[in-house]
Amino acid sequence: MMRKLIKTKGIFDGKRDKLLYNKCILIENGLISCIGSQEDFGSITGEIENIDLSNEYIIPGLIDCHTHLSIVPELGNQIEQMRIPAPRNILRSISNIKKDFRSGVTTMRIMGEENFIDIEIKNAIQEGIINGPRLLAAGKGIVASNGHGVVLTVADGPEEVRKVARQNLAIGADHLKIFVTGGISTASRNLNNSTYTLEEIKMAVSEAERAGKYVAAHAHGGIGIDLCIEAGVRSIEHAVLISEEQIEKIIKSNMWITITSTIIFDDKGVGAKDITNEEIRRKLIYGRQVAKNNWKKVVTSGAKYVIGTDSMHGRMVDEIKFLIDLGVSNLDALKAATGKAADACNFDRVGVIEKGKYADFLVLDDNPLESIEALENIKHIIMSGNFVEEYI
Ligand SMILES: [Zn+2]
Repeated sequence: MMRKLIKTKGIFDGKRDKLLYNKCILIENGLISCIGSQEDFGSITGEIENIDLSNEYIIPGLIDCHTHLSIVPELGNQIEQMRIPAPRNILRSISNIKKDFRSGVTTMRIMGEENFIDIEIKNAIQEGIINGPRLLAAGKGIVASNGHGVVLTVADGPEEVRKVARQNLAIGADHLKIFVTGGISTASRNLNNSTYTLEEIKMAVSEAERAGKYVAAHAHGGIGIDLCIEAGVRSIEHAVLISEEQIEKIIKSNMWITITSTIIFDDKGVGAKDITNEEIRRKLIYGRQVAKNNWKKVVTSGAKYVIGTDSMHGRMVDEIKFLIDLGVSNLDALKAATGKAADACNFDRVGVIEKGKYADFLVLDDNPLESIEALENIKHIIMSGNFVEEYI
């Protein structure tokens, strides 16, 4: 049995409101088996590797709750990018994942790819063919002919929704992603309207739930969000135009909201190239005007929220900083990227430093609860108890 004992200065465990000071973490076969003080482990016998991080802080690896693998938003026309043949898109994905991994992201929830490349890459990482974060994959996005995000796969009517849902589940999807309203980065798609009927969204939810999975829905506002709430999806993704009444309903329904700020506000996002299209430019300007205010309502309402880079690879720390700019404490912003993120993803093996979870940690010089800049200087990344030496 492979055992390691890590001595730490301070642990943010992803859940508690305070750091744990001067604790040791015992890792057995890549899993956390015990957290205690040095004395608790005094009598431990047998072969064990001691790792001295007694001057460092440990936090759970970050979880990006909304991203894609193959897209680089800065290049523009994200839909066209996903139409590229699978082999080239896998190579693009690998260079993207490397940036995410290096930035401290150890789990990524992927929100739709063509050709099941997310499933293939996830499997390759699990098999140890390449290094990388843990992936939670959606497989193909479920999208109507006239929907935002329609790439190659189309599902119109409940039966086609069922078919794509089942194809995804058959190949190992962890969740389903449905595109309900328009998006900012595609022209001629309204951010409030819904391309799907209640019946179609419910079909996706029913297929997912009977398989023990859930649906995450791309929806910005209006009837789109209303239908998602009624249909019972687990999370509303983006929610740029969300209303106060909808936030209230979401709280009552115990749903999640995923805030994706960098793609909208950073000039390397939709503002890099897509903005040359007049309609996208108008939507982006409008989105930027209202998003902060609406998301501020989300984070102060008591609603459950998490964050995602939406393909702004390597920018997870900026998503955390954005929450802090909205007035969220360092503690709550870090929870949204760790413990709560694991909850949102319904993946209880990560995000929290406690017995039974994967030993996926970031090692920092400074206390991130005091200074979030500590995340800009990640000293080491530990995956399943091993120091990551190569990022791919
Ligand atoms: Zn997305």
